[in-house]
Amino acid sequence: MKNFALIGAAGYIAPRHMKAIKETGNNLVAALDKNDSVGIIDSHFPDADFFTEFERFDRHIDKLRRENNGKQVDYVGICSPNYLHDSHMRFALRAGADAICEKPLVLNPWNIDGLQEIERETGRKVNTILQLRLHPAIIELKAKVAASPADKKFDVDLTYITSRGHWYLQSWKGDDKKSGGISTNIGVHFYDMLHFVFGKLQDNKVHFNSPTKAAGYLEYEKARVRWFLSVDVNDIPAEVRAAGQRTYRAITADGESIEFSDGFTDLHTVSYREILAGRGFGLEENRVAIETVANIRNAPISPLTGDYHPFVT
Ligand code: NAD
Repeated sequence: MKNFALIGAAGYIAPRHMKAIKETGNNLVAALDKNDSVGIIDSHFPDADFFTEFERFDRHIDKLRRENNGKQVDYVGICSPNYLHDSHMRFALRAGADAICEKPLVLNPWNIDGLQEIERETGRKVNTILQLRLHPAIIELKAKVAASPADKKFDVDLTYITSRGHWYLQSWKGDDKKSGGISTNIGVHFYDMLHFVFGKLQDNKVHFNSPTKAAGYLEYEKARVRWFLSVDVNDIPAEVRAAGQRTYRAITADGESIEFSDGFTDLHTVSYREILAGRGFGLEENRVAIETVANIRNAPISPLTGDYHPFVT
């Protein structure tokens, strides 16, 4: 049984990590969050220690390590806001643990280089949650693409609208410096998946970028991709909205729909299983997606010529 600590334990995604720790037969020994709304811990690990101050958490983790009585932390799960991930990963590695970090791993590619140095210094590893790589529909698509003729390029449309209320722009998620903005915070899942399935990134154009929506064109070895992301409920197609839906997710490759709505939420446990078996996705595997989002954040807006997503007008 491995011991875990969790940073960002009061947030939205933290319970999935707690569930994954439990479902893989392991133990949460300590948790940290600035916010003390963490009653959820009792549903999973009522004996876990909890801290609202980093310094006290650090002292506790260090004490567990020095006592060396089987309670030292083996893994630190990181569910804090995006701009804090690199700092929290450094803490984990220096504390003698491996890290399991949420997406986006970091905001800029050079943060990856710094973390690789610390991996070398400490001999510990950063693992990341790239859950779409573990989705059966995506694995199937990757196999189909791999089996296609070498010069084949798929025409892919990716539309993802996941409505958020007014809170979104008031929270760290609406602050570019903290989340990277919508393409970094939400799009990163998809840019990583596209690279995983379609190979090397060859072109990256941005057609629209605002706090609530973004769109662009990405070209990979094996695909031309028109993408559109939004957190604005008004972008949901009228017939879907009329049915009461607040999320619209569509991916097509050569006009054929790729269905991956089901099973999207249960992949944390699968990710943990893979990590515990030594098959976690490491720092380098995140590089292309992090380069993609950094470019999207800084790119000039391209004119609407050539391939662009039909939702951009
Ligand atoms: P959230 O705002 O609900 O939770 C973040 C938590 O971190 C909050 O409880 C906050 O109090 C805490 N926090 C802030 N600063 C801290 C600090 N210095 N030390 C300790 N705790 C601190 O956000 P969330 O939606 O749970 O997102 C957390 C992370 O998970 C983000 O990186 C996000 O991108 C990622 N995420 C991943 C998925 C996925 O499907 N893999 C889904 C949602 C979010």
